This record gives sequence, C-alpha cells and structure tokens, in this order.
Amino acid sequence: MGHQAKVVSPCDWPSFLNWLPGTADIIDFESATPVAKLALSEAELLFCLDFNDLGRTYRLGDVLKSLNCPLVMIDHHTHPSDFDAYRYYDVSASSTCELVYRLALEAGWSTHIDAEVAECLYCGTMTDTGNFKFPSTTPSVHRMIADLMDRGADHYKVHSLVYEQMGVHVLRFLGYCFSEKLRLIPEYSVAYFVITAEEVRRFGLQTGDTEGLVHYALNIDGMRMAALIIDRNERVKMSFRSRGAVPVHDFAREWFEGGGHYNAAGGQSSDSLERTEERFLDAIPAFVKSWGGAEQSLPSLAEPSPVTSPHPQ
Ligand code: 5GP
Repeated sequence: MGHQAKVVSPCDWPSFLNWLPGTADIIDFESATPVAKLALSEAELLFCLDFNDLGRTYRLGDVLKSLNCPLVMIDHHTHPSDFDAYRYYDVSASSTCELVYRLALEAGWSTHIDAEVAECLYCGTMTDTGNFKFPSTTPSVHRMIADLMDRGADHYKVHSLVYEQMGVHVLRFLGYCFSEKLRLIPEYSVAYFVITAEEVRRFGLQTGDTEGLVHYALNIDGMRMAALIIDRNERVKMSFRSRGAVPVHDFAREWFEGGGHYNAAGGQSSDSLERTEERFLDAIPAFVKSWGGAEQSLPSLAEPSPVTSPHPQ
C-alpha cells in the first residue's frame, strides 16, 4: 500500500515457520538488536501483534516503552495493559490473524489479501486454534478460512510444512517424555511434564521443538489440566492447558507471573526447576478447589468453555 513496513520479533521463532513469505526479512531483536532498534526508532506507527503487555516482549519491551510513535494493539489475550494509543482487540477472536483479516475487510483493504497473505493468515489461525479444534473456532472462522482458500491459500501445503517437517530428535524427545517424564496427579485430574536444561541440551531442542507436547498430557482420559514446566536457563517457562471450565489463565496470573487465554496460558518462574515444580504442586489443590474440581467425583467435559470475555472491547 506504499508504506515501508518492517517486522521486528522479540526473539527467534520455530524453524517450521521459516517457509512463510517474508520471514527472511523479519528482524530478530535478540540477534540483531542494533538493526531492530534503528527500525523502531524510525517508525511512525507501530502495530503490536499478539501481545497485550509490553513485558511479553522480554528485552524489546524497554525499547517499546521509550518510543514516541503511537502503538496500535491488535490482540486477543485476556487482561490487556494500557500501553497502546489504539486497539483492535477482541478476546473472543480465535487468533490475532483473524483480527488482522477482520481489520483488512473492515478497512476496505481486502484486495491486498493475495494468496501469500492468505497462507500467512491461514497458518496463524490454524496454529492458534489447535487445527481448528478449540472452542474459539466459530462458524465465522470457518467462513474466513473458506475465503482465504478462495484467495489462493493452499491448506494442504500449510499443514504439511508446519506439521510434517519434524526432526527425528523431536520424535525421540517426545517418546522419551511419554515414557519417562509424564507425571500424573489423578486426584486433581492434572498431568504434567518437567524438562530439565540438561534434557534440552541432550536432545538438541530448538525453539518450537516442544510445541504441542503439553497437549498430549491433556489428551489423557479424565485429565482437566496439563502443564509443561521447562528449564530455559534464564528462567523456567511454563505452559498450561485445560478443558472446559478450568481457568488456567487465572492460575498462570496468580501463581506464575503469566496469563494468556482461558484454556491456554503460560507463565514463568525465576526459581529453580525443582522449586518451581514444588510451587506448582502446592498451588494445585487450592486452584482445583477454586473451579469446583475437588467436589466433582468424575470430571465432566460437557460444559462449554467460556471463551468470550465479559468485557470485550
Ligand atoms: P504457550 O504455552 O503456547 O507458550 O502459550 C499459551 C498462551 O499463553 C499464549 O497465548 C501465550 O501468549 C500466553 N503466554 C505464554 N507465556 C506467557 C507469560 O509468561 N505471560 C503471559 N501473560 N502470557 C503468556
């Protein structure tokens, strides 16, 4: 549209996304900090995509705080901070890609959604909806997907490139996790994995290689909540997933400086891995009580997930 657009990412990204058009031009703030800082200092307008708190961008957050240009938030996570001049925000949206699509349509820019753009939007929606499975996958999401396919998105190509390029080391790591690392707390319907920094090194794990692991724990019959606790050296990172009316974003916020979505959230800890696991185990009984799990003899999966915010903006 005649603008000079530059994309800055706070850190690197999973290599299974490298085929996406434009990826080669993305500036990684961690590995190319001076280039990223220059691009940001020259920006007249900054779109903040898929985060609603500057802290989520790690070290990049400090630079964003010091910028004079207006920040536009496009996001769908709960509990947004107040750093933006404008926002296109809907917590019920399946993904930030859905919001970008909606914005393009509302602004009359839909002719710019060509096959390449359509594939990017398809990919972001596919990954954020767990392959169109999560409750946020509304009929409008399917209508959007049909439109993206009409515009040339090749759905089979996108699925293959994202899910069928797995390194052998990842498959071996998954097998190891399933046989050696899975921990169950059946009385609270919780399953989780704890991964040490040594295991990350031993299996040669790269960014993105643990993506999806936590879902396997949630797939176990009777489980309502799953967690992945992984030592990333600088900090311990945690992923939480749940089924039905189990608000893991509250759990993440209350106990692990985190947040996210009702059924998919994350957090972190500056404690050791062992201490983090202890804190996790200490927190579970009160949390399960808070959503009424302790009173349920058999978990019911029939209840709908409250995916919509009481305060959509
Ligand atoms: P994942 O487990 O896939 O890393 O993240 C699940 C969801 O939680 C994503 O929407 C992600 O943005 C969010 N999330 C992950 N880690 C954090 C965190 O430390 N803080 C907050 N606020 N959200 C997080």
